[in-house]
Amino acid sequence: MIDLHLHLDGSLGLEDFKYLAERNHVSLGDDFPKNVRVPEGCKTLEEYLTRFDLPCSLLQDEFSIAYAVTSLVNRLYNSGYIYAEIRFAPQLHTLKGMSQEDAVISAISGLKYALKDKVGFDANLILCCMRQSSVEVNMPAIELADKYRMDKVVAVDLAGPEAFLTGDHYTSLFDEAKKRNLNITIHAGEACGSDEVIRVIDLLHAQRIGHGVHLELNRENIKKMVENRITFEFCPTSNLQTTSLPNYKAVPLREFDRYGIAVTINSDNMTVSDTDVLKEFKHLYKEFKLQKHEVKHFLTNSINASFTDLATKTMLLNELNKKIDAYFDLIISE
Ligand SMILES: [Zn+2]
Repeated sequence: MIDLHLHLDGSLGLEDFKYLAERNHVSLGDDFPKNVRVPEGCKTLEEYLTRFDLPCSLLQDEFSIAYAVTSLVNRLYNSGYIYAEIRFAPQLHTLKGMSQEDAVISAISGLKYALKDKVGFDANLILCCMRQSSVEVNMPAIELADKYRMDKVVAVDLAGPEAFLTGDHYTSLFDEAKKRNLNITIHAGEACGSDEVIRVIDLLHAQRIGHGVHLELNRENIKKMVENRITFEFCPTSNLQTTSLPNYKAVPLREFDRYGIAVTINSDNMTVSDTDVLKEFKHLYKEFKLQKHEVKHFLTNSINASFTDLATKTMLLNELNKKIDAYFDLIISE
């Protein structure tokens, strides 16, 4: 499997919670692990985002970040993944005085440590800017993505509550990212509508869209997506939980695909959403009776849209060819 849209803090393993809480003298609360999963009856993205407070509070020093990244990569590899892009916002890890740069260096060291003994697998990092934060607070993510571009950092993102401020408030930030030739993916069209997707492509130079399910598929928009080779990072379960979509049937998978718009399937947050890419494909199989060639097609989209080098993409295509039968068997099994 491949995950291009995977948040580190939302995917901290339950065992990691316990270990890091003890180490950092933080209480997990009486209702753990319920309090790190999506709230029952969750109605909004804002409510969903409250589940990141506890994991974030545990990831405030160099060791904890490196440990969390290593653990996540090990879990992915052991579950049969071949590639992942793990994202986090360095600015959210400075509560106890760690610098944004130290947060990034720690994540890189945790990733490299985990990758040392793995073949047929790779992973990279994406640094998130946040919608609630000023340009000043966000700019280090852009600068650090540039500084560590040869060190497993492959792109920048804009995350956080989409309704807070529209994309046009972040143009200086992403003009800088563009000037530095960084890869750009942006959360849009999740809590908001089609206009925000267009805005972040036109104004923030987005190459990939996190979610984007509310894009209106009119002639003009379809042309823009296809001509600019925009890839969409769908995260179906997360969208249902934030009520961005009413059910799996409403995931516009075949609609986008029919028009030649590249769609990928991702988890968003393995712990908060209690999911992974295999579970996402299982849901979509049940709803749409996906065929094996379609699963392969969506995973190939992920490889093509990944922010990695050509040699890694070739390796991943080979691995996918070897693993697709086993993947499909897992998807259709009860
Ligand atoms: Zn996300």
